[in-house]
Amino acid sequence: MSPTNTFHDQNAETSTLTNPTLVLNCGSSSIKYALISEDESTRITGLAENLGLDTARIKHTTLNNEKLEIPISGGRHKLALQKILELLEQYHFVAVGHRVVHGGREYSEAVRVDEHVLSEVKRLKILAPLHNPAHALGIEAVQAIYPNVPQVVVFDTAFHQTMPPVAYRYPIPKALFDEHRIRRYGFHGTSHAYVSERASDITDTKGTHGWLTAHLGNGCSATAVYDGKSLDTSMGLTPLEGLMMGTRSGDVDPSLHMHLKRQLDMSLEDIDAMLNHESGLMGVSGLSNDLRTVEQAANEGHADAMLAVEMFCYRVGKYLAGLSCALPEFTGIVFTGGIGENSATTRNRILEVMRHFGIKVDAAKNAKLVGGNEGSIHAEDSSIELWVVPTDEECRIAQETRAALNLA
Ligand code: ADP
Repeated sequence: MSPTNTFHDQNAETSTLTNPTLVLNCGSSSIKYALISEDESTRITGLAENLGLDTARIKHTTLNNEKLEIPISGGRHKLALQKILELLEQYHFVAVGHRVVHGGREYSEAVRVDEHVLSEVKRLKILAPLHNPAHALGIEAVQAIYPNVPQVVVFDTAFHQTMPPVAYRYPIPKALFDEHRIRRYGFHGTSHAYVSERASDITDTKGTHGWLTAHLGNGCSATAVYDGKSLDTSMGLTPLEGLMMGTRSGDVDPSLHMHLKRQLDMSLEDIDAMLNHESGLMGVSGLSNDLRTVEQAANEGHADAMLAVEMFCYRVGKYLAGLSCALPEFTGIVFTGGIGENSATTRNRILEVMRHFGIKVDAAKNAKLVGGNEGSIHAEDSSIELWVVPTDEECRIAQETRAALNLA
């Protein structure tokens, strides 16, 4: 290639990142980021992790797919964001979209950040104590460095605000709902919205679609989506309700807390930590929260690992069967998340649990759809469609950010 061509190629690459949106997902000890071009064809991604520890670092992938690692020993959110913004400054992003876990019942769509919105994100830490304060830090850090760049918050709960009361209320005294907002909110909203919309785009079935979307990653949730609207979902007031997850238990008897307090004198904080961090695949297998590790041990005959995998699939299948009640019509199931996108055996076992639904899997298609590929896995004579759709929460957040600012 001549030097002139190289020059042109580099220029072409830079120019494809036109009017990019910066998507930030500020967690309690990490920050994921993606800079996405207006036409969504190009992106730069990265992750700041181990924040606050000696091992804090930024892993950055450049436009040319080069991997950089930048140590920021002891650095917290503010320092990490300063460095991230320095790395991305040259691309002149036009807006910043933040993933925010909890929007309470106030927000049913993405909104532009102003003083009121920022104070609401902070106030809603009562419902998301680990997440919302970190999101607020992210918003303030960008405000301090780029006061004129518009920022938008995209709530994980917003997509589920279309749930009817029959799905979102708990059967507990009304005053707790009226006065204290105790209700089901649901999470992973951007993922369920993205994959259900994508399934509606790629199916040949005409008319209104009813999907069950199964987001199976470290966190797991399932949603019933009809005509693009969430009608019910497995997570509740907090992301602990519903499916068995990597380290979260999902549903347990609500009296478990009382029982453990009485029998073992455990504090509420200890029980909460146990259910969130020491349960799920990790708790049952005693090995790991990572399905790959648990599956491998199960294949080698580890009895607890075998039970963990079986319970995981049984609980997903049972939930999907239950959620089908929310759909006026049942077009199909959409699998996504690290497990849903990669583990053909898990998908198969989940569908076997739903054996009374007339579902037929095309084994060859199912085995092939791994590693982030999209496609159908149902046999011709299946009662419903089955799709694997890699999720793209960053892309959805960028789209909603542009829409909220009338840039789309
Ligand atoms: P997060 O919720 O943290 O974004 P991911 O969506 O990346 O998580 O999902 C992580 C889960 O996906 C882990 O349990 C991991 O074991 C599982 N996973 C990833 N790749 C595979 C694979 N090839 N086979 C089975 N499980 C996989």
